[in-house]
Amino acid sequence: MVEQQQVEGTEMSELVLRWLRTQARLRQALAVAGRGAEDAMLLAVSKRHPASAIAELFEAGQACFGESYLQEALDKQAELADLPIEWHFIGPIQSNKTRAIASQFTWVHSVERVKIAQRLSEQRPVDMGELNICLQVNISREASKSGFLPEELMAAAEKISKLPRLKMRGLMAIPRDEDDYQRQREPFRQLAELQQQLNDELGLQLDTLSMGMSGDLEAAVKEGAAIVRVGTDIFGARQ
Ligand SMILES: *Cc1c(COP(=O)(O)O)cnc(C)c1O
Repeated sequence: MVEQQQVEGTEMSELVLRWLRTQARLRQALAVAGRGAEDAMLLAVSKRHPASAIAELFEAGQACFGESYLQEALDKQAELADLPIEWHFIGPIQSNKTRAIASQFTWVHSVERVKIAQRLSEQRPVDMGELNICLQVNISREASKSGFLPEELMAAAEKISKLPRLKMRGLMAIPRDEDDYQRQREPFRQLAELQQQLNDELGLQLDTLSMGMSGDLEAAVKEGAAIVRVGTDIFGARQ
């Protein structure tokens, strides 16, 4: 679809051009890392951007969108109800919001308490497939960030892996801001090691490292990201 549009030479909006550039950036990062072109996918983080922008990118070929604020997401979902968008929740989760999240999203990247996972499991509608979840890890141990600490992860993952209606897919992290590529790689490598450890010790098959944003996509892809979550690089600055 992407190639076709370029060949046709149709007039493209700035937004679609930015999205194409981000897709190219991801492909380049995968090639540099020696990985296959399909080994990581782009989640377009549309928080604080209007439903019209989502519709435009969906039309261009972007199927998966990430949202961080529940009410804002629900409003856009209602507006875009006729489009088969795959919605991912990536923001902080309060207990009283789990019912809506369990029924309105295909993925939740930001599970950071066992209690939240239990509620999502109980509240996932039976007529929907399993809810894909990632456990958020506070990999840089910052007071301002949420997520399980690495040493809490094993016990939590063991409990959560047994919950019905959820499919635990992997780990998510937002590391400390860092400009240097080599230093960016370190926390991503640690997250990959944690996921491998869970697979080895708990016999799990976690396959999804959700890591890498506008500022550190290349480092995350180098360390094995399966989903990169990009907002600013596609949509521009948020209001
Ligand atoms: C906002 C957000 C992103 C996107 O960040 P950008 O720097 O705009 O690419 C990714 N992940 C999470 C969890 C976010 O909240």
